[in-house]
Amino acid sequence: MHIERILHSQGFGSRKVCRALIRAGRVTISGQVQDNPFADFPAEDLVFTVDRETCRFRDKAYLMLHKPSGYECSRQPQFHTSVFALLSEPLVNRGVQAIGRLDQDTTGLLLLSDDGQFIHVWSAGRKRVPKIYEVVVRHPVSETMTQALLAGVQLHDDPEPVAAAACERTGERSLKLTITEGKYHQVKRMVAAAGNRVESLHRSGIGGLMLPDDLAPGQWRWLDDGDFARLA
Ligand code: URA
Repeated sequence: MHIERILHSQGFGSRKVCRALIRAGRVTISGQVQDNPFADFPAEDLVFTVDRETCRFRDKAYLMLHKPSGYECSRQPQFHTSVFALLSEPLVNRGVQAIGRLDQDTTGLLLLSDDGQFIHVWSAGRKRVPKIYEVVVRHPVSETMTQALLAGVQLHDDPEPVAAAACERTGERSLKLTITEGKYHQVKRMVAAAGNRVESLHRSGIGGLMLPDDLAPGQWRWLDDGDFARLA
């Protein structure tokens, strides 16, 4: 594939912008400056640098972000910074989307991709994926509360009661809650319906994929084969 097309596919700008980048000597492959935009390289797994930033060609982008508090999952945020501000510009340019949304004050594991099929399969409601939340609540967690969450609570605009797939008290005012739907403010509304109030919310896992301890808030990384296996 022409280097110009490779760069364009990876989000480095229009074909014209990529051509100019290459002609300006800002792109290297195997340590050599490549200033011919039409030089041919096998794209798969190609490693190249743009202004000394090392990149690997990826047909599709799949990543996880440790979402910090105070960020909105929308590309057009209303009141807070967008999570997309935490990603590199090429990633944003290639059109990655958040898979399901977390509230601005929720922290934890957020998946993003530019693969429409993957987004469709893993979006809320399409697949009954267990999502695990660490919840801190205002009032002590009672047995009645955990039993109510497991049995199903009535949400305002929902005809059917909604039940947690799992619910475990983890401290006087904390619990671990697993849900398989992705309804609007679901955890906050379920906890409210069970007579308590969410003070903080953190998503620690999706399916068998847990947020790694070494991924600090605001950091992201590519999904690897192990991550895909844990997700499936
Ligand atoms: N449930 C909520 O109430 N908020 C989130 O961000 C995620 C799940």
